[in-house]
Amino acid sequence: MKTFCGRANPTTGAMEWVEEDENYDYHQEIARSRYADMLHDKDRNTKYYQGIRAAVSRVKERGEKAIVLDIGTGTGLLSMMAASAGADFCYAVEVFKPMANAAVKIVEKNGFRDKIKVINKHSTEVTVGPDGDMQCRANILVTELFDTELIGEGALPTYEHAHKYLVQEGCEAVPHRATVYVQLVESKRMWSWNKLFPVHVEAEDGEKIIVSPSEMENCPGVPSVCDIQLNQMPSGDFTILSDVVTMFSVDFSKLVRSASASYRVQLEPVKSGKAQIVLSWWDIDMDPCGRINCTMAPYWVKNTSAFQWRDHWMQCVYFLPNEEPVVQGEKVYLVACRDEYSVWYKLQKARGEEENKVAARVESPVCRCQAHLLWNRPRFGQLNDQNRTGQYIKALMKVLKTDSVCLCISDGSLLPVLAHYLGAKQFFKANHLEDKIKIIETRPELLLSSHLEDKKISVLVGEPFFTTSLLPWHNLYFWYARTAVSSHLTSTVTVLPQSAALHMMIVEFQDLWRIRSPCGICEGFDVRTMDDMIKNSLNFRESKEAEPHPLWEYPCKSLSDPQEVLTFDFRDTVPEHSLSTEGSVKLLRKGKSHGAVLWMEYHLAADISVNTGLLQISNEKGNCEWNPHCKQAVYFFSSVIESEPLPDLPSAVTYAINFNTKTGEIVMDFKL
Ligand code: SAH
Repeated sequence: MKTFCGRANPTTGAMEWVEEDENYDYHQEIARSRYADMLHDKDRNTKYYQGIRAAVSRVKERGEKAIVLDIGTGTGLLSMMAASAGADFCYAVEVFKPMANAAVKIVEKNGFRDKIKVINKHSTEVTVGPDGDMQCRANILVTELFDTELIGEGALPTYEHAHKYLVQEGCEAVPHRATVYVQLVESKRMWSWNKLFPVHVEAEDGEKIIVSPSEMENCPGVPSVCDIQLNQMPSGDFTILSDVVTMFSVDFSKLVRSASASYRVQLEPVKSGKAQIVLSWWDIDMDPCGRINCTMAPYWVKNTSAFQWRDHWMQCVYFLPNEEPVVQGEKVYLVACRDEYSVWYKLQKARGEEENKVAARVESPVCRCQAHLLWNRPRFGQLNDQNRTGQYIKALMKVLKTDSVCLCISDGSLLPVLAHYLGAKQFFKANHLEDKIKIIETRPELLLSSHLEDKKISVLVGEPFFTTSLLPWHNLYFWYARTAVSSHLTSTVTVLPQSAALHMMIVEFQDLWRIRSPCGICEGFDVRTMDDMIKNSLNFRESKEAEPHPLWEYPCKSLSDPQEVLTFDFRDTVPEHSLSTEGSVKLLRKGKSHGAVLWMEYHLAADISVNTGLLQISNEKGNCEWNPHCKQAVYFFSSVIESEPLPDLPSAVTYAINFNTKTGEIVMDFKL
């Protein structure tokens, strides 16, 4: 059987249905899953184990049999913990078939076949009764269904159903409760992910400021969660305006209601400033009295137990609909609203008592300006980066003449606006708006002379940026588009950027390696079946694939010098043959070679470039600073351990990299 997967074609920029082996989806799911990261989360695992032991003891002390329901068992880990803790029987429910199969194998391998029944169903399909999936209702409910926003993976409706149909009243729940915390901050950096700041353009006839239209100014944005590794946000990048306060909590041992709700807390600003952002995270108490606590609190929050790195749970950044000034000591109300799956926030000034009694219901944010649908958060940040814009302005000023006819090919780009302000006479742009700027709603290969009013293009520009790009080199679509419009270009056309270069560096990750590293034994349970499954899925493709990661969130150190490995000349058309390179890169520092990082640098014009990857190596130790608006490509080496260079022996990594011009994809191979 074959399945079809939607994917952007990097040579056409279009979404296409690609026929894949039926196992493709499942392998992607496993290979890119967070299971490995969860199994490496020692803090989470030990606390679950403590909480489960305590719950089993409480039930036993009451003289009852301990019957456990584990919803979303994954590898079966929490059920095995329960069985080891003395539970009489466990029902382990898992909806994802490959995982349920793995759970059966792992449970068997660890000798719990008689104690744990794996049920491959969604929990809402599970039946109870003599002929049902479960003989009787459970008196211990164990789950781990949380995402960074706590409720985004549907924990609330799952709990609601379980309490109604699958567990006894007064059951023990592990975790017992979750609490969501918030802190109000001002942060130009984070605010730049949500609003377009004025753009300053130094033109020959003086400074001009491009401002965003008012519907964009006042747009509440989109409700999708912004989850980041907040611990990588330097304290200088935000100003704390309030203490940390509890926003709401959920008791999982009682009937949980998933219906929409709102909560309101009073905040007394500790500092005057502009309220822009609500930072949020949660913790879970594994036991009723809260002695066993697992928290996602960021580094500046005191009393945080030993820090645990994890990628499956991070912290949330919520954007208030508008920035509002707050004054130190003058109380304000923060309102949180949620539906079944997401949370959003609004600030209320404390005015009349009456008005404040009702926690006014706030509508879920809906983008009215379109920009939040076109630009995601990192893209907003990129467009607000004045240094980057400065490079484009400098380059445009170099190439634009008063009689230039320009074509811009990029998604949601401000280049036409910049060029217009810099005096370009006429500007054509594929896919966008404005007056002096003509938007051509066609694909490059379908561009007609009539679209261009029979003019030839003298300046072709692009950032390049395309919303469908996943990996850095997917923006080479610009090159394909340039090739497609060749017949419309003058013989002396200027192409901006004129070329691009692919760079590569070998790195040691501080933590990110965990997400692709086998776990072996987890809390005494053999989970190698899972390791093998992940390895098998990673190797499913003949050659492994690089994956995109925003490396500003994932500290690493460089083990080699950065190296330019391939160049792409946009002044020429895409060649027929593929571009390939081979070589070796010396390891200069001692460390574990976890993988190679690859990124693109665009040469806009002579001596002017923009870099989407490594900004600098900041110290002797090799710590790296990355472009904060872009994802870089990470190619994890399959064996890490072997790659530690011997003390006195300089070692090297050999590579072979091939850019297939037919597919627009890059395939690579490394040998240590
Ligand atoms: N319990 C494991 C895995 C947690 S990941 C551990 O702690 O290591 C959550 C798992 O729950 C995923 O495998 C997902 O497929 C499954 N899941 C989520 N909601 C579910 C539901 N309502 N019914 C059954 N499985 C569910």
